[in-house]
Amino acid sequence: MPRDFLEGAAEQYDVVVIGGGLGGMTAANTLARAGHRVLLLEQHYKFGGLATWFRRRGGHIFDVALHGFPVGMIKSCRRYWSREIADRIVQLERIRFDNPMFSLTTTFTREDFTRLLIDRFQFNPATVDAFFDAARDMQFTDAPTQTTGELFEQFFPGREDVVRLLMEPITYANGSTLEDPALTYGIVFSNFMSKGVYTFQGGTDELIKMMRAVMQENGVDARICAPAERIEVDRQRRVQAVHVAGRRIATRAVVSNANLLGTIFDLVGQNALDPDFAERARAVRLNNSSTQVYLGLKDGETIDEETGDLLFTSRAPLFRTDSLLSPEVTSRTYSFYYPRIRPERDPHYLVVASANARYEDWSDLPADEYQRRKQQLTDETLDDLDRYVPGIREKVDWTEAATPCTFKRYTGHWLGSSFGTKFEGLPISRELPHQIQGLYHAGSVGIIMSGWLGAVNYGVIVANDVDALLCADNPSI
Ligand SMILES: Cc1cc2nc3c(=O)[nH]c(=O)nc-3n(C[C@H](O)[C@H](O)[C@H](O)COP(=O)(O)OP(=O)(O)OC[C@H]3O[C@@H](n4cnc5c(N)ncnc54)[C@H](O)[C@@H]3O)c2cc1C
Repeated sequence: MPRDFLEGAAEQYDVVVIGGGLGGMTAANTLARAGHRVLLLEQHYKFGGLATWFRRRGGHIFDVALHGFPVGMIKSCRRYWSREIADRIVQLERIRFDNPMFSLTTTFTREDFTRLLIDRFQFNPATVDAFFDAARDMQFTDAPTQTTGELFEQFFPGREDVVRLLMEPITYANGSTLEDPALTYGIVFSNFMSKGVYTFQGGTDELIKMMRAVMQENGVDARICAPAERIEVDRQRRVQAVHVAGRRIATRAVVSNANLLGTIFDLVGQNALDPDFAERARAVRLNNSSTQVYLGLKDGETIDEETGDLLFTSRAPLFRTDSLLSPEVTSRTYSFYYPRIRPERDPHYLVVASANARYEDWSDLPADEYQRRKQQLTDETLDDLDRYVPGIREKVDWTEAATPCTFKRYTGHWLGSSFGTKFEGLPISRELPHQIQGLYHAGSVGIIMSGWLGAVNYGVIVANDVDALLCADNPSI
Protein backbone atom coordinates (compact mmCIF):
# COMPACT_ATOMS: atom_id res chain seq x y z
CA MET A 1 0.00 0.00 0.00
CA PRO A 2 1.37 3.47 -0.80
CA ARG A 3 1.89 5.62 2.28
CA ASP A 4 -0.96 8.04 3.11
CA PHE A 5 0.79 11.35 3.74
CA LEU A 6 -2.48 12.88 4.93
CA GLU A 7 -3.18 10.21 7.52
CA GLY A 8 -4.87 11.75 10.55
CA ALA A 9 -5.50 15.10 8.85
CA ALA A 10 -8.77 16.79 9.85
CA GLU A 11 -11.60 17.39 7.40
CA GLN A 12 -11.61 21.10 8.00
CA TYR A 13 -9.07 23.83 8.90
CA ASP A 14 -9.24 27.60 9.41
CA VAL A 15 -6.53 28.02 6.79
CA VAL A 16 -4.84 25.77 4.26
CA VAL A 17 -1.38 26.91 3.12
CA ILE A 18 -0.35 25.44 -0.23
CA GLY A 19 3.43 25.24 -0.54
CA GLY A 20 6.15 24.95 2.08
CA GLY A 21 8.67 27.47 0.75
CA LEU A 22 9.91 30.20 3.11
CA GLY A 23 6.84 32.33 2.34
CA GLY A 24 4.37 29.48 2.92
CA MET A 25 6.07 28.23 6.08
CA THR A 26 6.24 31.73 7.53
CA ALA A 27 2.56 32.38 6.78
CA ALA A 28 1.60 29.01 8.30
CA ASN A 29 3.68 29.60 11.41
CA THR A 30 2.41 33.15 11.94
CA LEU A 31 -1.23 32.06 11.59
CA ALA A 32 -0.82 29.06 13.89
CA ARG A 33 0.87 31.27 16.48
CA ALA A 34 -2.16 33.58 16.28
CA GLY A 35 -4.37 30.65 17.29
CA HIS A 36 -5.73 29.45 13.93
CA ARG A 37 -5.91 25.82 12.86
CA VAL A 38 -3.49 25.55 9.95
CA LEU A 39 -2.80 22.79 7.44
CA LEU A 40 0.42 23.19 5.40
CA LEU A 41 0.61 21.14 2.20
CA GLU A 42 3.95 20.67 0.42
CA GLN A 43 4.10 18.66 -2.79
CA HIS A 44 7.82 17.80 -2.48
CA TYR A 45 9.22 15.32 0.05
CA LYS A 46 10.84 18.14 1.99
CA PHE A 47 9.98 21.67 3.08
CA GLY A 48 11.93 24.75 2.01
CA GLY A 49 10.93 25.17 -1.65
CA LEU A 50 13.81 26.86 -3.46
CA ALA A 51 15.55 27.26 -0.09
CA THR A 52 16.77 23.70 -0.31
CA TRP A 53 19.78 21.39 -0.12
CA PHE A 54 20.78 17.90 -1.14
CA ARG A 55 23.23 15.29 0.11
CA ARG A 56 25.68 13.37 -2.06
CA ARG A 57 28.23 10.58 -1.65
CA GLY A 58 31.39 11.71 0.09
CA GLY A 59 29.52 13.55 2.83
CA HIS A 60 28.71 16.54 0.63
CA ILE A 61 25.69 18.72 1.47
CA PHE A 62 24.97 21.24 -1.27
CA ASP A 63 22.97 24.39 -0.56
CA VAL A 64 20.99 25.50 -3.60
CA ALA A 65 19.92 29.03 -2.68
CA LEU A 66 22.07 29.97 0.31
CA HIS A 67 24.40 32.47 -1.34
CA GLY A 68 23.55 35.55 0.62
CA PHE A 69 20.68 37.62 1.98
CA PRO A 70 20.38 41.06 3.62
CA VAL A 71 20.79 41.81 7.33
CA GLY A 72 17.01 42.30 7.68
CA MET A 73 16.71 38.52 7.82
CA ILE A 74 18.03 38.59 11.42
CA LYS A 75 15.17 40.78 12.62
CA SER A 76 12.54 38.89 10.61
CA CYS A 77 13.71 35.51 11.89
CA ARG A 78 13.82 36.75 15.49
CA ARG A 79 10.32 38.21 15.29
CA TYR A 80 8.53 35.58 13.25
CA TRP A 81 10.55 32.42 13.96
CA SER A 82 12.88 32.24 16.96
CA ARG A 83 15.89 33.82 18.58
CA GLU A 84 17.87 30.59 18.02
CA ILE A 85 17.32 30.84 14.26
CA ALA A 86 18.21 34.54 14.19
CA ASP A 87 21.38 33.91 16.20
CA ARG A 88 22.73 31.56 13.52
CA ILE A 89 22.85 34.32 10.89
CA VAL A 90 26.39 35.53 10.20
CA GLN A 91 27.99 38.00 7.81
CA LEU A 92 29.95 37.01 4.70
CA GLU A 93 33.22 38.86 4.83
CA ARG A 94 34.76 38.62 1.38
CA ILE A 95 32.72 39.54 -1.67
CA ARG A 96 34.82 39.71 -4.81
CA PHE A 97 34.31 41.00 -8.34
CA ASP A 98 36.48 40.00 -11.25
CA ASN A 99 35.67 41.10 -14.79
CA PRO A 100 37.44 42.84 -17.71
CA MET A 101 36.56 46.25 -16.23
CA PHE A 102 37.75 45.78 -12.64
CA SER A 103 38.81 43.35 -9.92
CA LEU A 104 38.10 44.20 -6.31
CA THR A 105 37.12 42.84 -2.90
CA THR A 106 34.47 44.45 -0.71
CA THR A 107 32.42 43.87 2.42
CA PHE A 108 29.39 44.98 0.35
CA THR A 109 28.33 47.65 2.82
CA ARG A 110 27.33 51.24 2.07
CA GLU A 111 30.49 52.44 3.77
CA ASP A 112 32.75 50.27 1.64
CA PHE A 113 30.91 50.98 -1.62
CA THR A 114 31.12 54.70 -0.86
CA ARG A 115 34.87 54.34 -0.43
CA LEU A 116 35.16 52.44 -3.73
CA LEU A 117 33.01 54.89 -5.68
CA ILE A 118 35.02 57.86 -4.42
CA ASP A 119 38.59 56.50 -4.35
CA ARG A 120 38.54 54.05 -7.19
CA PHE A 121 35.81 55.21 -9.53
CA GLN A 122 36.52 58.91 -8.87
CA PHE A 123 33.08 60.31 -7.99
CA ASN A 124 32.56 63.15 -5.59
CA PRO A 125 31.13 62.23 -2.17
CA ALA A 126 27.98 64.33 -2.66
CA THR A 127 26.97 62.36 -5.81
CA VAL A 128 27.59 59.04 -4.10
CA ASP A 129 25.59 60.05 -1.02
CA ALA A 130 22.75 61.37 -3.18
CA PHE A 131 22.61 58.04 -5.06
CA PHE A 132 22.49 55.96 -1.88
CA ASP A 133 19.83 58.22 -0.36
CA ALA A 134 17.68 58.06 -3.52
CA ALA A 135 17.86 54.24 -3.51
CA ARG A 136 17.15 54.05 0.23
CA ASP A 137 14.09 56.31 0.05
CA MET A 138 12.29 54.15 -2.53
CA GLN A 139 9.15 52.36 -1.29
CA PHE A 140 7.36 49.45 -2.92
CA THR A 141 4.12 51.43 -2.83
CA ASP A 142 5.67 54.20 -5.04
CA ALA A 143 4.52 54.44 -8.65
CA PRO A 144 7.33 53.19 -10.91
CA THR A 145 8.44 56.24 -12.89
CA GLN A 146 12.06 55.53 -13.73
CA THR A 147 13.94 52.44 -14.89
CA THR A 148 17.08 51.20 -13.16
CA GLY A 149 19.11 52.15 -16.25
CA GLU A 150 17.75 55.72 -16.01
CA LEU A 151 18.59 55.86 -12.30
CA PHE A 152 22.23 55.02 -13.04
CA GLU A 153 22.33 57.48 -15.92
CA GLN A 154 21.05 60.21 -13.58
CA PHE A 155 23.86 59.75 -11.06
CA PHE A 156 26.71 58.14 -13.02
CA PRO A 157 26.18 59.16 -16.67
CA GLY A 158 28.00 57.02 -19.23
CA ARG A 159 29.81 54.95 -16.60
CA GLU A 160 29.36 51.32 -17.65
CA ASP A 161 31.91 50.20 -15.07
CA VAL A 162 29.85 51.67 -12.22
CA VAL A 163 26.65 50.18 -13.65
CA ARG A 164 28.37 46.82 -13.58
CA LEU A 165 29.54 47.21 -9.99
CA LEU A 166 26.12 48.29 -8.77
CA MET A 167 23.95 46.06 -10.93
CA GLU A 168 25.72 42.75 -11.51
CA PRO A 169 25.22 41.31 -8.00
CA ILE A 170 21.57 42.35 -7.93
CA THR A 171 20.97 40.77 -11.33
CA TYR A 172 22.49 37.55 -10.04
CA ALA A 173 20.55 37.91 -6.81
CA ASN A 174 17.14 38.26 -8.39
CA GLY A 175 17.30 38.41 -12.17
CA SER A 176 16.44 42.11 -12.34
CA THR A 177 17.48 44.10 -15.41
CA LEU A 178 18.26 47.69 -16.34
CA GLU A 179 14.78 47.90 -17.88
CA ASP A 180 12.96 47.03 -14.61
CA PRO A 181 11.52 49.84 -12.45
CA ALA A 182 14.26 51.60 -10.48
CA LEU A 183 12.42 51.11 -7.21
CA THR A 184 12.75 47.32 -7.50
CA TYR A 185 16.48 47.80 -7.73
CA GLY A 186 16.64 50.55 -5.09
CA ILE A 187 14.86 48.53 -2.41
CA VAL A 188 16.89 45.34 -2.85
CA PHE A 189 20.18 47.21 -3.22
CA SER A 190 19.50 49.29 -0.09
CA ASN A 191 18.56 46.15 1.86
CA PHE A 192 21.95 44.64 1.07
CA MET A 193 23.83 47.91 1.35
CA SER A 194 22.65 48.62 4.86
CA LYS A 195 25.07 46.14 6.44
CA GLY A 196 26.38 43.68 3.86
CA VAL A 197 25.56 40.09 2.92
CA TYR A 198 24.62 37.34 5.38
CA THR A 199 24.33 33.55 5.49
CA PHE A 200 22.94 30.89 7.81
CA GLN A 201 25.47 28.96 9.84
CA GLY A 202 24.44 25.33 9.87
CA GLY A 203 23.23 25.35 6.26
CA THR A 204 19.77 25.25 4.73
CA ASP A 205 19.06 21.77 6.13
CA GLU A 206 19.56 23.04 9.68
CA LEU A 207 17.44 26.15 9.07
CA ILE A 208 14.51 24.15 7.74
CA LYS A 209 14.84 21.62 10.57
CA MET A 210 14.66 24.46 13.11
CA MET A 211 11.69 26.02 11.32
CA ARG A 212 9.85 22.70 11.30
CA ALA A 213 10.37 22.40 15.05
CA VAL A 214 8.92 25.89 15.60
CA MET A 215 5.93 25.09 13.39
CA GLN A 216 5.33 21.91 15.34
CA GLU A 217 5.43 23.80 18.65
CA ASN A 218 2.87 26.24 17.30
CA GLY A 219 0.59 23.45 16.10
CA VAL A 220 0.90 23.69 12.29
CA ASP A 221 -0.29 20.42 10.74
CA ALA A 222 2.53 20.18 8.17
CA ARG A 223 2.42 17.52 5.45
CA ILE A 224 4.94 16.62 2.75
CA CYS A 225 4.25 14.72 -0.51
CA ALA A 226 0.86 16.45 -0.55
CA PRO A 227 0.32 18.28 -3.86
CA ALA A 228 -2.80 20.46 -3.82
CA GLU A 229 -4.75 19.73 -7.00
CA ARG A 230 -7.49 22.33 -6.92
CA ILE A 231 -8.88 25.20 -4.87
CA GLU A 232 -12.67 24.91 -4.71
CA VAL A 233 -14.57 28.18 -5.02
CA ASP A 234 -18.37 28.61 -4.81
CA ARG A 235 -20.67 30.67 -7.07
CA GLN A 236 -20.24 33.72 -4.81
CA ARG A 237 -16.53 33.41 -5.39
CA ARG A 238 -15.65 32.31 -1.87
CA VAL A 239 -13.04 29.70 -1.03
CA GLN A 240 -14.68 26.44 0.09
CA ALA A 241 -12.00 23.74 0.11
CA VAL A 242 -8.68 22.43 -1.15
CA HIS A 243 -8.52 19.13 -3.02
CA VAL A 244 -5.42 17.09 -2.31
CA ALA A 245 -4.60 13.41 -2.95
CA GLY A 246 -8.24 12.59 -3.63
CA ARG A 247 -9.46 14.30 -0.44
CA ARG A 248 -11.52 17.43 0.07
CA ILE A 249 -10.30 19.59 2.96
CA ALA A 250 -12.82 22.28 3.85
CA THR A 251 -11.55 25.77 4.65
CA ARG A 252 -12.54 29.40 4.30
CA ALA A 253 -9.02 30.69 3.67
CA VAL A 254 -6.19 29.52 1.44
CA VAL A 255 -2.69 30.97 1.25
CA SER A 256 -0.96 29.79 -1.90
CA ASN A 257 2.82 29.85 -1.84
CA ALA A 258 2.88 28.22 -5.27
CA ASN A 259 3.86 30.20 -8.35
CA LEU A 260 1.43 33.12 -8.83
CA LEU A 261 0.38 32.11 -12.34
CA GLY A 262 0.16 28.44 -11.34
CA THR A 263 -2.12 29.46 -8.45
CA ILE A 264 -4.43 31.50 -10.67
CA PHE A 265 -4.60 29.35 -13.78
CA ASP A 266 -3.89 25.80 -12.54
CA LEU A 267 -5.30 25.72 -9.00
CA VAL A 268 -8.27 28.07 -9.41
CA GLY A 269 -8.94 28.35 -13.14
CA GLN A 270 -9.75 31.51 -15.01
CA ASN A 271 -13.52 30.87 -15.12
CA ALA A 272 -13.72 31.86 -11.46
CA LEU A 273 -12.19 35.29 -12.18
CA ASP A 274 -13.18 38.57 -13.79
CA PRO A 275 -12.07 38.38 -17.44
CA ASP A 276 -10.19 41.66 -17.05
CA PHE A 277 -8.25 40.34 -14.04
CA ALA A 278 -7.47 37.06 -15.84
CA GLU A 279 -6.17 39.01 -18.82
CA ARG A 280 -3.93 41.19 -16.65
CA ALA A 281 -2.66 38.09 -14.84
CA ARG A 282 -1.84 36.42 -18.18
CA ALA A 283 0.28 39.42 -19.08
CA VAL A 284 2.48 39.10 -15.97
CA ARG A 285 6.03 38.19 -16.98
CA LEU A 286 7.98 35.51 -15.12
CA ASN A 287 11.49 36.10 -13.92
CA ASN A 288 14.31 34.15 -15.53
CA SER A 289 15.71 30.91 -14.17
CA SER A 290 19.20 29.65 -13.34
CA THR A 291 21.76 26.98 -13.98
CA GLN A 292 24.02 25.73 -11.22
CA VAL A 293 27.10 23.53 -11.04
CA TYR A 294 27.81 21.83 -7.71
CA LEU A 295 31.38 20.81 -6.89
CA GLY A 296 32.40 18.78 -3.84
CA LEU A 297 36.06 18.57 -2.85
CA LYS A 298 37.70 15.29 -1.82
CA ASP A 299 38.43 14.69 1.85
CA GLY A 300 41.58 16.59 2.77
CA GLU A 301 41.43 19.00 -0.19
CA THR A 302 40.97 22.67 0.72
CA ILE A 303 40.37 26.10 -0.78
CA ASP A 304 42.19 29.16 0.52
CA GLU A 305 39.62 31.39 2.28
CA GLU A 306 41.17 34.42 0.56
CA THR A 307 39.37 33.16 -2.56
CA GLY A 308 36.31 34.80 -1.03
CA ASP A 309 32.79 33.83 0.03
CA LEU A 310 31.05 35.15 -3.07
CA LEU A 311 32.83 35.81 -6.33
CA PHE A 312 31.08 37.61 -9.18
CA THR A 313 33.01 36.79 -12.34
CA SER A 314 32.57 37.63 -15.97
CA ARG A 315 34.60 37.41 -19.16
CA ALA A 316 32.13 39.63 -21.02
CA PRO A 317 33.72 42.98 -21.91
CA LEU A 318 30.55 44.90 -20.93
CA PHE A 319 27.60 44.29 -18.61
CA ARG A 320 24.56 43.27 -20.71
CA THR A 321 21.43 41.46 -19.50
CA ASP A 322 21.33 39.41 -22.68
CA SER A 323 24.82 38.07 -22.24
CA LEU A 324 24.01 37.18 -18.62
CA LEU A 325 21.09 35.04 -19.82
CA SER A 326 22.82 33.51 -22.82
CA PRO A 327 23.39 29.73 -22.88
CA GLU A 328 27.01 30.60 -23.77
CA VAL A 329 27.81 31.40 -20.18
CA THR A 330 30.32 34.21 -19.78
CA SER A 331 29.32 35.30 -16.27
CA ARG A 332 29.10 33.19 -13.13
CA THR A 333 28.73 33.70 -9.41
CA TYR A 334 30.77 31.34 -7.30
CA SER A 335 29.72 30.61 -3.73
CA PHE A 336 32.48 29.03 -1.69
CA TYR A 337 31.42 26.98 1.31
CA TYR A 338 34.16 26.49 3.90
CA PRO A 339 33.93 24.15 6.92
CA ARG A 340 32.70 27.10 9.03
CA ILE A 341 29.27 26.93 7.34
CA ARG A 342 28.62 23.61 9.12
CA PRO A 343 31.11 23.75 11.99
CA GLU A 344 29.71 20.70 13.79
CA ARG A 345 30.43 18.38 10.81
CA ASP A 346 33.68 16.97 9.41
CA PRO A 347 35.42 19.66 7.34
CA HIS A 348 34.08 19.91 3.77
CA TYR A 349 34.85 22.40 1.02
CA LEU A 350 32.23 22.97 -1.67
CA VAL A 351 31.65 25.34 -4.55
CA VAL A 352 28.35 26.23 -6.23
CA ALA A 353 28.55 28.14 -9.52
CA SER A 354 25.34 29.92 -10.54
CA ALA A 355 24.40 31.63 -13.78
CA ASN A 356 21.16 33.18 -14.96
CA ALA A 357 19.40 31.18 -17.67
CA ARG A 358 16.27 30.92 -19.79
CA TYR A 359 13.93 27.93 -19.48
CA GLU A 360 13.38 27.71 -23.25
CA ASP A 361 17.11 27.19 -23.86
CA TRP A 362 16.85 23.88 -21.96
CA SER A 363 13.26 22.66 -22.02
CA ASP A 364 13.00 21.29 -25.56
CA LEU A 365 16.34 19.52 -25.83
CA PRO A 366 16.29 15.78 -26.60
CA ALA A 367 17.40 13.74 -23.55
CA ASP A 368 20.92 12.97 -24.83
CA GLU A 369 21.52 16.59 -25.88
CA TYR A 370 20.26 17.79 -22.49
CA GLN A 371 22.80 15.51 -20.74
CA ARG A 372 25.57 16.63 -23.10
CA ARG A 373 24.81 20.30 -22.40
CA LYS A 374 24.83 19.68 -18.64
CA GLN A 375 28.23 18.00 -18.92
CA GLN A 376 29.48 20.89 -21.05
CA LEU A 377 28.27 23.36 -18.41
CA THR A 378 30.17 21.42 -15.74
CA ASP A 379 33.35 21.21 -17.86
CA GLU A 380 33.32 24.90 -18.71
CA THR A 381 32.76 25.79 -15.07
CA LEU A 382 35.74 23.70 -13.99
CA ASP A 383 37.92 25.36 -16.65
CA ASP A 384 36.78 28.82 -15.56
CA LEU A 385 37.16 28.12 -11.84
CA ASP A 386 40.73 26.94 -12.38
CA ARG A 387 41.64 30.65 -12.65
CA TYR A 388 40.73 31.08 -8.97
CA VAL A 389 41.29 27.57 -7.56
CA PRO A 390 44.23 26.10 -9.46
CA GLY A 391 43.99 22.34 -10.00
CA ILE A 392 40.27 22.25 -9.18
CA ARG A 393 39.62 19.30 -11.53
CA GLU A 394 41.94 17.10 -9.46
CA LYS A 395 40.49 18.34 -6.18
CA VAL A 396 36.83 17.42 -6.74
CA ASP A 397 35.14 14.06 -6.25
CA TRP A 398 31.57 15.18 -6.99
CA THR A 399 30.25 17.28 -9.86
CA GLU A 400 26.62 17.82 -10.83
CA ALA A 401 24.58 20.39 -12.73
CA ALA A 402 21.05 21.78 -12.39
CA THR A 403 19.12 23.62 -15.09
CA PRO A 404 15.87 25.62 -15.28
CA CYS A 405 14.11 22.24 -15.82
CA THR A 406 15.45 21.06 -12.45
CA PHE A 407 13.96 24.06 -10.64
CA LYS A 408 10.63 23.57 -12.39
CA ARG A 409 10.58 19.90 -11.53
CA TYR A 410 11.15 20.36 -7.80
CA THR A 411 8.97 23.42 -7.15
CA GLY A 412 6.42 23.51 -9.98
CA HIS A 413 7.44 27.10 -10.81
CA TRP A 414 6.37 27.97 -14.33
CA LEU A 415 9.48 28.19 -16.54
CA GLY A 416 11.58 27.20 -13.53
CA SER A 417 11.52 30.84 -12.47
CA SER A 418 14.04 31.47 -9.67
CA PHE A 419 12.33 34.64 -8.47
CA GLY A 420 8.66 34.21 -9.33
CA THR A 421 7.26 37.01 -11.41
CA LYS A 422 8.35 40.44 -12.48
CA PHE A 423 7.18 43.54 -10.61
CA GLU A 424 3.70 43.61 -12.18
CA GLY A 425 2.93 40.32 -10.37
CA LEU A 426 2.74 42.13 -7.02
CA PRO A 427 -0.55 44.02 -7.64
CA ILE A 428 -2.07 40.84 -9.10
CA SER A 429 -1.00 38.86 -6.03
CA ARG A 430 -2.47 41.56 -3.73
CA GLU A 431 -5.74 41.72 -5.70
CA LEU A 432 -6.44 38.00 -5.50
CA PRO A 433 -8.55 38.20 -2.28
CA HIS A 434 -10.70 40.86 -3.97
CA GLN A 435 -11.39 38.43 -6.79
CA ILE A 436 -12.01 35.41 -4.57
CA GLN A 437 -12.87 35.86 -0.93
CA GLY A 438 -10.45 33.91 1.23
CA LEU A 439 -7.79 33.33 -1.43
CA TYR A 440 -4.35 34.82 -0.81
CA HIS A 441 -0.98 34.45 -2.47
CA ALA A 442 2.35 34.67 -0.60
CA GLY A 443 5.18 33.72 -2.90
CA SER A 444 7.88 35.30 -4.99
CA VAL A 445 6.50 38.26 -6.88
CA GLY A 446 8.41 41.25 -8.05
CA ILE A 447 11.86 41.57 -6.75
CA ILE A 448 11.06 42.89 -3.33
CA MET A 449 8.85 40.00 -2.29
CA SER A 450 11.46 37.45 -3.43
CA GLY A 451 14.65 36.05 -2.07
CA TRP A 452 14.78 34.65 1.44
CA LEU A 453 14.01 37.92 3.19
CA GLY A 454 11.30 38.98 0.74
CA ALA A 455 9.59 35.56 0.97
CA VAL A 456 9.61 35.57 4.79
CA ASN A 457 8.30 39.13 4.98
CA TYR A 458 5.62 38.56 2.38
CA GLY A 459 4.49 35.47 4.32
CA VAL A 460 3.98 37.67 7.39
CA ILE A 461 2.16 40.43 5.47
CA VAL A 462 -0.28 37.92 3.97
CA ALA A 463 -0.73 36.06 7.28
CA ASN A 464 -1.84 39.35 8.83
CA ASP A 465 -4.42 39.82 6.06
CA VAL A 466 -5.76 36.31 6.63
CA ASP A 467 -5.80 36.83 10.38
CA ALA A 468 -7.93 39.96 9.89
CA LEU A 469 -10.40 38.01 7.73
CA LEU A 470 -10.70 35.13 10.20
CA CYS A 471 -10.97 37.38 13.25
CA ALA A 472 -13.66 39.52 11.58
CA ASP A 473 -15.71 36.34 11.10
CA ASN A 474 -14.98 35.00 14.57
CA PRO A 475 -14.23 37.78 17.09
CA SER A 476 -13.55 35.23 19.88
CA ILE A 477 -10.16 34.34 18.28
C1 LIG B 1 19.51 28.95 -7.88
C2 LIG B 1 18.88 29.91 -6.93
C3 LIG B 1 19.66 30.64 -6.06
C4 LIG B 1 19.08 31.53 -5.17
N1 LIG B 1 19.88 32.21 -4.30
C5 LIG B 1 19.32 33.03 -3.39
C6 LIG B 1 20.13 33.71 -2.44
O1 LIG B 1 21.34 33.55 -2.37
N2 LIG B 1 19.54 34.56 -1.58
C7 LIG B 1 18.20 34.76 -1.57
O2 LIG B 1 17.71 35.54 -0.75
N3 LIG B 1 17.40 34.11 -2.45
C8 LIG B 1 17.93 33.25 -3.34
N4 LIG B 1 17.14 32.59 -4.24
C9 LIG B 1 15.70 32.86 -4.25
C10 LIG B 1 14.99 32.32 -3.06
O3 LIG B 1 15.43 31.01 -2.78
C11 LIG B 1 13.49 32.33 -3.35
O4 LIG B 1 13.10 33.63 -3.76
C12 LIG B 1 12.67 31.98 -2.12
O5 LIG B 1 13.19 30.85 -1.46
C13 LIG B 1 11.26 31.74 -2.60
O6 LIG B 1 10.43 31.42 -1.54
P1 LIG B 1 8.88 31.29 -1.75
O7 LIG B 1 8.26 31.20 -0.42
O8 LIG B 1 8.39 32.36 -2.66
O9 LIG B 1 8.56 29.94 -2.47
P2 LIG B 1 9.31 28.72 -3.13
O10 LIG B 1 10.61 28.50 -2.51
O11 LIG B 1 9.22 28.89 -4.58
O12 LIG B 1 8.36 27.55 -2.65
C14 LIG B 1 7.11 27.28 -3.19
C15 LIG B 1 6.70 25.91 -2.63
O13 LIG B 1 5.40 25.58 -3.07
C16 LIG B 1 5.37 24.20 -3.36
N5 LIG B 1 4.25 23.94 -4.24
C17 LIG B 1 4.05 24.41 -5.49
N6 LIG B 1 2.88 23.97 -5.98
C18 LIG B 1 2.31 23.22 -5.00
C19 LIG B 1 1.08 22.49 -4.90
N7 LIG B 1 0.19 22.46 -5.89
N8 LIG B 1 0.81 21.81 -3.74
C20 LIG B 1 1.70 21.82 -2.71
N9 LIG B 1 2.88 22.48 -2.78
C21 LIG B 1 3.17 23.18 -3.89
C22 LIG B 1 6.72 23.95 -4.00
O14 LIG B 1 7.07 22.59 -4.02
C23 LIG B 1 7.61 24.79 -3.11
O15 LIG B 1 8.07 24.07 -1.98
C24 LIG B 1 17.69 31.69 -5.15
C25 LIG B 1 16.89 30.92 -6.00
C26 LIG B 1 17.47 30.04 -6.88
C27 LIG B 1 16.61 29.21 -7.78
